[in-house]
Amino acid sequence: MKVLLVYPEFPDTYWSFRHALKFEGKQAAFPPLGLLTVSAMLPDDWERRLVDMNVEELWPDAIEWADMVFVSAMIVQNVSLEAVVKLCRSMGKKVVVGGPYVSTSSERLPDADHIFIGEAETTLPEFINDLELGIARKIYEADERPSLAATPVPDLSLLDMRHYSAMNLQYSRGCPFNCEFCDIIEIYGRVPRTKTNEQMLAELDALRAAGWRGLVFIVDDNFIGNKKNVRLLMPDLIEWSRANEHPFSFITEASVNLAEDDALLQQMKDAGFRRVFLGIETPVEESLKAAQKGQNTRRDLLGSIHKIQSYGMEVMAGFIVGFDSDPDDIFDLQVNFIRESGIPLAMVGLLTALPDTQLWRRLEKEGRLLDVSTGNNTDCTMNFVPKIEMATLIEGYKNILRNIYSPREFYRRSLDCLSRFHKDRIEPRSSTIGEDLRAFSKLILTLGVRDRARLQFWDYFLKLFLHHRSNIAHGLTLAAMGYHFRQITEKYSNQT
Ligand code: SF4
Repeated sequence: MKVLLVYPEFPDTYWSFRHALKFEGKQAAFPPLGLLTVSAMLPDDWERRLVDMNVEELWPDAIEWADMVFVSAMIVQNVSLEAVVKLCRSMGKKVVVGGPYVSTSSERLPDADHIFIGEAETTLPEFINDLELGIARKIYEADERPSLAATPVPDLSLLDMRHYSAMNLQYSRGCPFNCEFCDIIEIYGRVPRTKTNEQMLAELDALRAAGWRGLVFIVDDNFIGNKKNVRLLMPDLIEWSRANEHPFSFITEASVNLAEDDALLQQMKDAGFRRVFLGIETPVEESLKAAQKGQNTRRDLLGSIHKIQSYGMEVMAGFIVGFDSDPDDIFDLQVNFIRESGIPLAMVGLLTALPDTQLWRRLEKEGRLLDVSTGNNTDCTMNFVPKIEMATLIEGYKNILRNIYSPREFYRRSLDCLSRFHKDRIEPRSSTIGEDLRAFSKLILTLGVRDRARLQFWDYFLKLFLHHRSNIAHGLTLAAMGYHFRQITEKYSNQT
């Protein structure tokens, strides 16, 4: 059996980082971890190839070669997913689809031959068996959330690592919290399941053996969801990093209660965690309560962010406007909070009702749903009727974007963030000197010569050089990210 694994294209959004990646000569931020894991679960004698459409084109030759095409997608990839399924079926190929989008969008499933709903650890072996017997069904729906002990090390042999800015791996699935708008808890449940320490170290060994050095994204939606197990993992992770001379630095996502655990913060620092994404959402307590985000209430949110930063971890965060309890001055409140937080990469979105979430069900009951979600909460569209008048909300949202990604605000937050790092913060080397020089010259040419905001860039660069020399690489990476955000903001804020 010849299997082609296809990862559909992401649109150009804040999350694509496309305009920043071009400086380091990369095509995509991360590889398709789900498909690499599926590949590792296929029988050894099946031939397999991968086409990640974010780094290369899907040519007809590749489809022609295959007996069967596997496609996995998130909701934001749905347009590309539909096109891939249609093309492959028109060429007479059997198509298998799965992934988060397919799992939560049962009414809008693509017209594939075999559809996987839920996690595939138990259903994929059943499908392979049925296929051999000639009795494979159309729908395979997982009736349980499997233990991750059965999850294999992803098949890195399919990957050309040079295209990617970071590698990724998964430690846990699920989150104990209950945010009303969240689809993670609907897909993966509220009892976080983790891999064993041995599994994690085996994945790190595999990445290292494959030649990877640099950033590794632990993709968990809440890395500290199962704190007991994370605390047990950390000593092994620290020891592994030390014994292997710190080949990786880590980024991940966590809930804001991380700030109350000094011992865990210290361990994360020692293990080489360099960036943490937090779901801050809003500084408005009533909106947090209504969204069932109790873990963000009854605490000093700014103090929590600053504390995490003081452990050498850059905080990146999600913010939302459009909650029913948002006051009229929500736009100013968000801008001021983001400024004071020193969070350079602040991802502000409009509230979106994702399929199959508590929010979706409530709005459906209230008769306020307008459309399915595009999965992109930054494209200035809404799929429900908000309490604040929609045009006011969207214009206020665009003003937030214009403000927080303006060069002055962005560079100010970046310097603020770097000033909280310890001086002993060491980054592992992920590139050669030649690669660094090429990236540096492209950045200087774009931001320091051609860009309208070049004076602000040189002012920022001077301050980096004078006050943050040990973190200058991090500071320049932030400048590249800021440029990406500005490009996307101009695209969205000029939409009418
Ligand atoms: S903390 Fe994050 S992952 Fe957990 S329920 Fe809330 S939004 Fe979902």
